[in-house]
Amino acid sequence: MILGPPGAGKGTQAVRLARRWHIPHISTGAILREAIKEGTPLGLQVKAILDSGGLVDDALITRIVCERLEKPDASSGFLLDGYPRTVPQARALDTFMDGRGPLVVAEIVLDDAEVLRRLAARMVCSECGRNSQDDRAVASCHDCGGRLVPRTDDAEEVVRKRLEVYHQQTAPLVEYYEARPTFRRVDGDRLVDDVTEALVRAIEEVT
Ligand code: AMP
Repeated sequence: MILGPPGAGKGTQAVRLARRWHIPHISTGAILREAIKEGTPLGLQVKAILDSGGLVDDALITRIVCERLEKPDASSGFLLDGYPRTVPQARALDTFMDGRGPLVVAEIVLDDAEVLRRLAARMVCSECGRNSQDDRAVASCHDCGGRLVPRTDDAEEVVRKRLEVYHQQTAPLVEYYEARPTFRRVDGDRLVDDVTEALVRAIEEVT
């Protein structure tokens, strides 16, 4: 699973790693945004929470993740992006993982100033939800041709709230995991390719 603040590059890196190892990329944020886009009961329930930068209830998100992880395509590995985000979620994931093999945790480190700078410039595809390659001159998605738009929760005041939530609720996960032999940390303030390479090296070392 990939851990790190918003804007650290978790989504971008997760797409690359999942392709490399032929495992599903499971992004809780993407699942929730898709539900909002489709107007499902889940989407209606969580929209205001995402818009404000807060966190969805632990039990609800854990149920969604566990259902997804039970699907056959995740039976020989998966890449989790955006879950767990709280200590209770991490405990729930440990319970799920019991007897299923090691959980490798890779933390991407990035400071708040760089997060704010990156998210002010981020564009995502309105169709498939993928991040663009940070080039504002490009108007359409590299993968599906969809229109690129800013993410609504990348507005500066929402990003500040998401960072506050990250430091309060998610950063404690570093302490939760760091003593494990399967925990690795990489510097996210580098070129995308260099971060990918560091992640691949770090993860292959412990798998
Ligand atoms: P992300 O795309 O990972 O930045 O997630 C976008 C938003 O979805 C977050 O700001 C939360 O509101 C919600 N969300 C995603 N994953 C979780 C989670 N594990 N626990 C609670 N809320 C989540």
